[in-house]
Amino acid sequence: MGQRRRLVRSRRGSNLFVGDEPFDGTVVRILTSGIERLPSPFEGRARVRVQAGNDWDALVAYTVREGLAGIEAMSGIPGTVGAAPVQNIGAYGQEIQETLVEVELIDESTGEVSVVPASELGLGFRTSVLKHHYGGEPLRRAVILSVTLDLADVGSAGRIVRGDQLRRALALANDDPVPLAWVREQILGIRASKGMVLDDDDPTPTAPARSSRTRSSRTRSRAGCRRSARAGRSRPTSTRSR
Ligand SMILES: Cc1cc2nc3c(=O)[nH]c(=O)nc-3n(C[C@H](O)[C@H](O)[C@H](O)COP(=O)(O)OP(=O)(O)OC[C@H]3O[C@@H](n4cnc5c(N)ncnc54)[C@H](O)[C@@H]3O)c2cc1C
Repeated sequence: MGQRRRLVRSRRGSNLFVGDEPFDGTVVRILTSGIERLPSPFEGRARVRVQAGNDWDALVAYTVREGLAGIEAMSGIPGTVGAAPVQNIGAYGQEIQETLVEVELIDESTGEVSVVPASELGLGFRTSVLKHHYGGEPLRRAVILSVTLDLADVGSAGRIVRGDQLRRALALANDDPVPLAWVREQILGIRASKGMVLDDDDPTPTAPARSSRTRSSRTRSRAGCRRSARAGRSRPTSTRSR
């Protein structure tokens, strides 16, 4: 961990370009998993502490099942929970910084484990102090061990969707409440229609629509990306607000 060149590679590597030449450094592969539900100091909210190697989308699926709102629009983003704060992942107007409370990390210079509040991570649009920008050194060299989020405890009933970007994506014309599960289903459908959902069982690499990367880089950096557009949109099954 003390070596100058170190590459943290989560289980997925979905945001990494790996060259063909040998890598002179240490690769840390994070395979921890687990979601712990905690009370929130705020009324009507709940916290989850999640191990860094946990699959991000599995976490989103869990929160939706539990009726916890705040990350449902980030359904289908490939990768692990530990990598999510590194570039402040986001989609359709939601970003992890809106719900991130703190991360537990191991500091590479001291080897110490500490809990760092989100406010000290320099979170911005797809960036943080932990991010390697185009192979450069991050401002803070650390490995995230766990992530704590604070989410709204809304239950399974419908709620009014806020945020223009998300409302546009969901084609919501009015303030009818919709359940979290419906939002997740729609987002997964939209992402799949753009080839933005990875499938480990499908070896065929497919470019996401917004990428400007070269084909060879994409091919090396992905296990597979399936284009599986869903036909049409279903209607929400609940309109009860909570
Ligand atoms: C098809 C596709 C769609 C995508 N859609 C989106 C999107 O909508 N929104 C979005 O924000 N991103 C998106 N991404 C980017 C990617 O999903 C995210 O960056 C994700 O967080 C990467 O997770 P990973 O576990 O694969 O990280 P990796 O690719 O393995 O690592 C990414 C970086 O984070 C560092 N890192 C990883 N884990 C840790 C850790 N525990 N501690 C410290 N550093 C760590 C690595 O060293 C590396 O620098 C997409 C990527 C693909 C391929």
